[in-house]
Amino acid sequence: FDDRDGWIWMDGEMVQWREANVHILTHALHYATSVFEGQRAYSGQIFELEAHTNRLFKSADIIGMDIPYSREVINQACKDNLIKNGLVDAYQRPVVWRGSEQMGINTKLTKVHVAIASWEWPSYFAPEAKLKGLRLCMSNYRRPNPETAPILAKSAANYPISCLSKEAAELKGYDDALLLDWEGYVGEATGANIFFIKGSEIHTPSLKCVLDGITRRTVMGLAQKRGLTVVERNIKPEEMADFEQAFLTGTAAEVTPLSHVAGYDFVVGQEVQNLMNDYEALVRDV
Ligand code: PMP
Repeated sequence: FDDRDGWIWMDGEMVQWREANVHILTHALHYATSVFEGQRAYSGQIFELEAHTNRLFKSADIIGMDIPYSREVINQACKDNLIKNGLVDAYQRPVVWRGSEQMGINTKLTKVHVAIASWEWPSYFAPEAKLKGLRLCMSNYRRPNPETAPILAKSAANYPISCLSKEAAELKGYDDALLLDWEGYVGEATGANIFFIKGSEIHTPSLKCVLDGITRRTVMGLAQKRGLTVVERNIKPEEMADFEQAFLTGTAAEVTPLSHVAGYDFVVGQEVQNLMNDYEALVRDV
């Protein structure tokens, strides 16, 4: 992915894609001292840019990093990077990391760096799979307690469990995996939040150790507009038997119906389809 044309905003400058490199002794590469965002532009507008930038700053704060630019500078850099690359519909990845200024675990002598890359990335899950509903298996990993890991930050520190779970799921022929939380309640998928529908109620795990997804928040609003009652709570895995429909939300995944989660089957019903359409209409209508 590194050998291609394009421009990456790096520490205040637009750098050629191939030249946007870091040293092998980068602190973040060894100790996962980095945080990132994933945001999408639709028709030339970055959807919920301020919310993504705010979460980037919150994630950095959780792992004790001071971003050396203002939110306004980051927002402008995101917009400029999109334009510089001539993109209209795109995925964008801001990343903040500790550099190679020193190698000890102590972070004080490292500098905090920022980069923003943008590229075309149409659909995270295959469109056919999305229409039929994805199949999730149960991961062997659980989302840790926030006292065990900086789990509420969108930090590289938390993604090995996602990468391992995704890899294992695909090897078994599934599309993705569900991770429970450390207490055994339903958590989230490897890179998306999860929802369940029963009648006019829509249930989703509360935010005790899952990412505060920006698509999650948006879809909760859309569901309320449709007259659905949104319930955030602890959901036991066996309660999945009580629900008729299920879906994932995420910037990359958007609204993606599920047909199977760890032994339980779901239909791709009218409510999920309405929310998919509502989300699509909202992001295009900025
Ligand atoms: N959970 C995890 C672990 C994720 O990586 C993501 C993707 N950022 C999400 C949930 C969904 O968050 P958002 O809707 O803000 O993209």
